[in-house]
Amino acid sequence: MIIKRLSTRSVAANIITNGWLIETDLVEELKQSGVSTIAISIDGTQATHDKIRCKGSFQRALDAFHVLNQAGVDTAAVTTISNENIHQLPEIRDILINNGVKLWQVQIGFPEGNFKNHPEWLVTPDKMNVIIDFCYETSLMDKIKIYPADCVGYYSEKELKIKRNISKTQTNSTWRGCNAGVHVFGVLHNGDITGCTSIRDRTFIEGNIRETSLKDIWENPDGFAWRRKMTKSQLSGDCEVCVYGNVCLGGCPNTRLTINGDIYTENLYCAYNLALKKLKKNLQEIEDVSRLNDLASRSIASKNFQSAAIVTSRILEISPNNIEALALNGFAEFMCGNYTRCAEANRKVLEINPDDVYATKGLGLSLHELGDSDKGLELLEKAAMLTDYKDADIINDLNYIKQEINKEAVYSS
Ligand code: SF4
Repeated sequence: MIIKRLSTRSVAANIITNGWLIETDLVEELKQSGVSTIAISIDGTQATHDKIRCKGSFQRALDAFHVLNQAGVDTAAVTTISNENIHQLPEIRDILINNGVKLWQVQIGFPEGNFKNHPEWLVTPDKMNVIIDFCYETSLMDKIKIYPADCVGYYSEKELKIKRNISKTQTNSTWRGCNAGVHVFGVLHNGDITGCTSIRDRTFIEGNIRETSLKDIWENPDGFAWRRKMTKSQLSGDCEVCVYGNVCLGGCPNTRLTINGDIYTENLYCAYNLALKKLKKNLQEIEDVSRLNDLASRSIASKNFQSAAIVTSRILEISPNNIEALALNGFAEFMCGNYTRCAEANRKVLEINPDDVYATKGLGLSLHELGDSDKGLELLEKAAMLTDYKDADIINDLNYIKQEINKEAVYSS
């Protein structure tokens, strides 16, 4: 009934199941309900799947695929990747293809439910690139559509290509953050409503459809606040300073919740986060400041502002008052949207050289972004004055802040 009501109101309703109870007499009812896709878990070859779940469950899942496929219901397989099955991915792929499965979602198993009792099952973050490579290779085969779940990413070229291969278009498929509570919700077996069915922590239950209408739960202005109101500045670690942070917001919240115990922590299972950590580790081995300066300048020239911010931070570890590194760091942090860090770097430049034009401008712009527009304007005026109002960029920035302040005045009047 829930599916019927959702589908008649143009909400795509999918079911995720172990397939155990899907038999011929239920299939017709499901088909009539307008269900979008029925996804069945396959967590390994027969022996592995039955070991993780229970004896006989693998065959029940395959039987469910067959009856659903015969009835023309769209199906998908979902594989939760663990140390038990990561080496079996090519075999699982063959099984699915041979059983007529067209769509395959792969996701990482995190410590919750039964998985919590098996810490040895958890794959380490460094396996993310292995998984992304596997998905990429599978997408090129064009025999099954592989779909890395929202916990697999982010911002790698291969991930983008996988998504383009799935949609068969060149449209922008860049990760735009978790959809939980924004575009999707989950209905649990007992009617509890959650932004994402993977998050089982009771704190994230938004209500129960036996007690409150779905419409009221969804339209509650305070509902799903953990996701709808989340900002980059609430995050920590590399996510807090990530150039993609405003959009990505740390990727999958459930990854952070189950791994770190808090959704506002950094995502250690992000491929981009791994790359940043690798870069930092490699830079620790470089002590030569001129080599680091060269790296920083090249990063800026290629518009890789995140790398530039990291490289200049490394220079400042070695040489804290290096004025060129402070200036470049301020610029790179600004371009990454890290305004507090930008302000900090520019303040240090101004301690050394109080009339540094670009540090004055950089501090002004960052303070404006941080909400102190009056002080920002004052600093931009000073920067313009220091250049006799002849620097076109500074004049543009000055006018920009003035316009923004006027807009605010109009909005608040
Ligand atoms: S480091 Fe964090 S914010 Fe950046 S892409 Fe990865 S998960 Fe997203």
